[in-house]
Amino acid sequence: CGIVGYIGHRSANEVLISGLRKLEYRGYDSAGVATIPDIDGSDRSLHRVRAKGKLSQLEEKLKADTAPTAPIGIGHTRWATHGKPEEHNAHPHTNTTGNLAVVQNGIVENYHLLRIELKEQGHIFVSETDTEVIPHMIAEYLTQLAHLGNVIPERSPSVLFEAVRLTVEKLQGAYAIAVIHADYPDELIVVRQQAPLVIGIGKDENFCASDTPALVAYTRTVIPLENGEIARITKDAVQVFNAKGDRLRRAPQTLNWNP
Ligand code: GLU
Repeated sequence: CGIVGYIGHRSANEVLISGLRKLEYRGYDSAGVATIPDIDGSDRSLHRVRAKGKLSQLEEKLKADTAPTAPIGIGHTRWATHGKPEEHNAHPHTNTTGNLAVVQNGIVENYHLLRIELKEQGHIFVSETDTEVIPHMIAEYLTQLAHLGNVIPERSPSVLFEAVRLTVEKLQGAYAIAVIHADYPDELIVVRQQAPLVIGIGKDENFCASDTPALVAYTRTVIPLENGEIARITKDAVQVFNAKGDRLRRAPQTLNWNP
């Protein structure tokens, strides 16, 4: 129901929790975060913490958590539509190997068929959500692109972006998503498809959220995505594309908002 994403020089968990607090008004039954902690000299991996119930329960778990701080992460407050409000259904959801994470608002209407196809391809599902098809399908496209030598269209900014774009072409429904991947720790990919998603622009840091109250503590400079748009967010750039992958020019707007 609420999405927050961060990439930059702060601790991602702090930004995610403070942003999710500002989105509590939307209602939720569980919450979670996935980050890619900063570890020198070894392979980066995804770190996920989820809890049923209030954000304070997630915060308790994070206090006890010993993972190093992370410069990138995504967070979610869930209002269950498919699958009970239980921890294993809480977002972020991952692929089978657990190196990529997705949060979603809204509904994937055609998840049932996609789930059957992906299971046949060997992907292992561990939740009852509609959302879980998304990380598995992105992983499937990444494998296919790797077999093709990671050759992507020239207009496409990255392999991860292209895998998300191909996935979105297959999804039906009204939703917004945010995606991170441990093998591509310098980018955050977001999509808006009839559910709100706003990008916040900072200095050497960028943000995304379902709604502006989650951003105003950090920035007033925003790019609200339009339906069908996909953006690639790094710590110092935001690139916006249409569903076909054509680059769009988007001038940032300044929010007039008194907290
Ligand atoms: N349909 C998804 C689920 O049930 C996302 C619901 C939401 O917007 O929080 O997990």
